Amino acid sequence: MPTYEYECQSCHQRIEAVQHFSDPPLTTCPHCGGALRKVFSAVGIVFKGSGFYKTDSRSTSVSATPPGTTPSAASSASAGPSAPAPSPSPAPAASTSD
Ligand SMILES: [Zn+2]
Repeated sequence: MPTYEYECQSCHQRIEAVQHFSDPPLTTCPHCGGALRKVFSAVGIVFKGSGFYKTDSRSTSVSATPPGTTPSAASSASAGPSAPAPSPSPAPAASTSD
């Protein structure tokens, strides 16, 4: 909840009141009973959590296509990425086979 600040028009006292947005504003000074005026300041109204810049990951999808690669050559080789199948078990076979 935001903290509103009031200033008395009679005794010029500053009153800080924590109120909801829908709460009615204070009008009477608790010190002298004079009229209060709302002072607009940044007291208590702090928006914490400025981590929105983390979603800006545009620099990662730029090097998707390497420069110099023609689209015609890439479409002809539609066999997919031929990755060398790694050996599942690098055990030294034929060493002591019973
Ligand atoms: Zn007052």
